[in-house]
Amino acid sequence: MTSTLAQQDLDHLFHPATDLRGLRESGPIIWSRGQGVYIWDQDGRQYLEGMAGLWCTALGYGEKELARVAAEQMETFCYGPLFAGRSNEPSIRLATRLSRWVPIEGARFLFGCSGSDANDAQIKLIRYYYNAIGKPEKRKILSRGNAYHGVTVATAALTGLPAFHRHFDLPMDDVIHLGSPHYYRFAEPGESEAAFVERRARELEEVIEREGADRIAAMIAEPLMGAGGVILPPAGYWERIQPILDRNDILLIDDEVVCGFGRTGQAFGCQTYGMKPATMTMAKALSSAYQPISAVAVPPFMYEAIEEAAGGVGLFAHGLTYSGHPVAAAVADRNLELMEERGLVEHAARMGERLQARLAPLADHPLVGNLRGIGLIAGLELAADKAARQAFEPSAKMGFKVAAACLDAGLVVRAIPGDIIAVCPPLIINEVQVDELVDKLSTGLDRVAATL
Ligand code: PMP
Repeated sequence: MTSTLAQQDLDHLFHPATDLRGLRESGPIIWSRGQGVYIWDQDGRQYLEGMAGLWCTALGYGEKELARVAAEQMETFCYGPLFAGRSNEPSIRLATRLSRWVPIEGARFLFGCSGSDANDAQIKLIRYYYNAIGKPEKRKILSRGNAYHGVTVATAALTGLPAFHRHFDLPMDDVIHLGSPHYYRFAEPGESEAAFVERRARELEEVIEREGADRIAAMIAEPLMGAGGVILPPAGYWERIQPILDRNDILLIDDEVVCGFGRTGQAFGCQTYGMKPATMTMAKALSSAYQPISAVAVPPFMYEAIEEAAGGVGLFAHGLTYSGHPVAAAVADRNLELMEERGLVEHAARMGERLQARLAPLADHPLVGNLRGIGLIAGLELAADKAARQAFEPSAKMGFKVAAACLDAGLVVRAIPGDIIAVCPPLIINEVQVDELVDKLSTGLDRVAATL
């Protein structure tokens, strides 16, 4: 029987990123509260939140200190824009703190409300920058298959997943998609990881040759791909790609929306993988999802060129009503301060090692074709035939079945198209909870395997 709330949901809510027909049959799952790494549904059932919501609740649920800071800021000064040179203290404090976290010397921080609007701003900033320095023709942006960079018109175009283009008249001009770095899925038969990396590097060089380095502004990339299927760069990938970008004066936009603030075992994914980004996009763990906020790190060379050009017209004409919202900024600032006080990045690195070690035996599970992960993020790609790397028929919905079986066992994981099970728990997870997560995941896999 559908509860009143569930019926009202079906009647009045438009669910984003949802199988709308399927929802009519299944009805929504309504979460009602959370504490630490656990959440509870409307019927009082407890679940371990193995996906940190949407890769975002780094500090876990029910953190009273962040609630206190939000309430205090709302009472003191609920809103003041950063437009026209006005400022507010939380935004200044957050930008100052970020300048100590972010490995881009002298960066300034442009705030937004979501990863999408921040990546959208990245495109606008890059255009503004190249126009400012008299290279207006340098405007194409490279992205990759399986990438996820957001859902605004421009960032959905950067996203390299067909479902985000179909029906939306995307992608758009000026965006060029390179091949996905997903070795397990896209390697030729018998191709080594090194040969695969070489093929991807040659592809990049060919695209640059074809389009002209003077027409390519930037490449946007996640250090490891999250929403596209927890795709780790194959060994040597960034070491090979980065010099090609540098040689051709192509700026690297580092999308740290999932990787940022400890997920991969270091503060940022670019540090884990030795990338040298020009700019960086952050969101999600920036506030541990207690407030919607994002940030773009803008390096001095870009800021100075933009400042000079904007001087001519008197206005840098970009900004959201809520860019630098004081409540969001105060919460994000305290969130990062709590991470510092609690040594959360180091904790996440230790728990990450445990998670990867405990998951390792699942590589031999009959349903698992490929297990991959680093730090507190992992992906299990299911396969019908392990040896042949053959996927299940999409109509079998194996990924969804495993995710449903895990849910039944009391664990939230995510099924990504391609039958990939994603795991990305809050960074505060402890040893016992890591073990609980892996045990419940095994149970979910076993239960589905038993039905075949
Ligand atoms: N970039 C990456 C890497 C992401 O994972 C996401 C969201 N999953 C975004 C950008 C977009 O962020 P948002 O959903 O906050 O717009």
